[in-house]
Amino acid sequence: ATQSRVAAVTGANKGIGLAIVRQLALQYPKSPLKSGPFLIYLTARSEERGAEAVKTLESDQQLKDAKVLVKDGGDTTIKFYALDISQTKSIQDFGSFLKREHPEGLNIVINNAGIAMQGFDANIVEETLHTNYYGTLEATQDLLPLLRNGGRMVNVSSMSGKLNKYSDEIRNAFLQAAKTDIPAVTALMEKFKSAVSEGKEKEAGFPSAAYAVSKAGETAFTKVIAMEEAKRNRGVLVNACCPGYVKTDMTRGGGAKTPDEGAQTPVMLALHDIGGKTGGFWQSEKEIEW
Ligand code: NDP
Repeated sequence: ATQSRVAAVTGANKGIGLAIVRQLALQYPKSPLKSGPFLIYLTARSEERGAEAVKTLESDQQLKDAKVLVKDGGDTTIKFYALDISQTKSIQDFGSFLKREHPEGLNIVINNAGIAMQGFDANIVEETLHTNYYGTLEATQDLLPLLRNGGRMVNVSSMSGKLNKYSDEIRNAFLQAAKTDIPAVTALMEKFKSAVSEGKEKEAGFPSAAYAVSKAGETAFTKVIAMEEAKRNRGVLVNACCPGYVKTDMTRGGGAKTPDEGAQTPVMLALHDIGGKTGGFWQSEKEIEW
């Protein structure tokens, strides 16, 4: 019997996440992973926006022309599932559902959901870290054990999480934490949070930027998870990437790339031969310096 392949993408109702689902469907036929039917869970926190997004893809001209969806004679099915990564229970529900529905495991998880708020204060820092750092970390930790041998975990971080905007001390602390463990990375996030609450993040060596720090944390924890996963010898590859500067609601009309162009690196890390690399930070389909 042909074995089916299963993928899940978070925050996939619009922007880069939606394009990732489209590109997964388009590129699956040429992927070394290809084997039988392909099921993609397009997840979103809003039931309404998620269901609408699935409809959009079902009538997507590119997908129709490529005949990749099952209804057009292809291998791929896209299903919606409600997942809010800012809520522990929602992540746990999705995990239990997947375990029940796919006891053989998943092949691909792409953590794409994220927020970028305007302004800077302690509340914005709290909320941004809650979703981008803690939410993505929880989704990564809960879904990783559900990956089959040889599976791929891709975290859509950002170049704004690069380490060029910190004091030497904090930059070295990030590099060290990424080789240590999750509590070491989380301690840096908490250090940032408390510095902000005292209005002293600059003195502490951080930028006054909630999103950038949350993404530095995301890249750091992804490296830790990759290192820990490698010890299990399951051939599971865990990587972080930046999609580039992409025109989406997040960039409010800015952005040089289309969402489909932004989806290329995450989809490459999920579907194509990356030479067994794990724990890297990627942009424009290449491994780059963090
Ligand atoms: P959008 O704002 O267009 O999309 C973000 C997606 O994440 C939406 O689907 C949103 O859902 C979802 N989301 C937000 N919070 C949650 C949550 N708690 N649970 C589940 N889903 C959630 O942004 P982009 O498509 O541009 O961004 C996608 C990823 O790429 C993000 O992680 C972003 O940080 C990263 N990125 C983007 C860049 C760019 O230039 N655009 C550059 C570098 C990184 P909803 O519609 O319900 O709000």
